[in-house]
Amino acid sequence: MTKATSDIEALIELMARLPGLGPRSARRAVLHLIKKRGQLMAPLADALHHVAATARECVSCGNIAGADICEICADERRATGEICVVEDVADLWAMERGHAFKGRYHVLGGSLSALDGIGPDDLRIPQLARRVGEEGVTEVILALNATVDGQTTAHYIADELADQVQVTSLAQGVPIGGELDYLDDGTITAALRARKAF
Ligand SMILES: [Zn+2]
Repeated sequence: MTKATSDIEALIELMARLPGLGPRSARRAVLHLIKKRGQLMAPLADALHHVAATARECVSCGNIAGADICEICADERRATGEICVVEDVADLWAMERGHAFKGRYHVLGGSLSALDGIGPDDLRIPQLARRVGEEGVTEVILALNATVDGQTTAHYIADELADQVQVTSLAQGVPIGGELDYLDDGTITAALRARKAF
């Protein structure tokens, strides 16, 4: 194998470790990058280099940012007294894409799991309790996954904070554009329980 080929193979192996990319997709991506060397590969390499040097966790909320405090925490207009609690940064970004929430966030870094030995101190739960006390928080909105671990975590946090602040959670039910016939039983049951006046 020539040097160039082994370099390319090494790149393919690295790319194949990305979520959602297997070896086949990684080969296609690398081939595409090489063909678009000027327009895509070089800017991508620069961007990777830059973000690798600057990306870090916001010390307040756990969002990924380019500074110690993320843009959301630094924005005084978002000091609404509402904190939305999510499991992962991807969930925070998903909430932001919806443009509906104007407050701040708190990223737990996962969910409680007896099976995996993950307890409250392994997540950013103590930091959440501290923020509620220090930041004039009036409502904590739990936006955790509708999984067993997500809901266990929601109950734990609700119990911890119940006497300090109002704790609410996202509604569960029929997705926008969803057809009842395609929903699983659990979703239909949750939607029926969360029914509201029409
Ligand atoms: Zn932040």
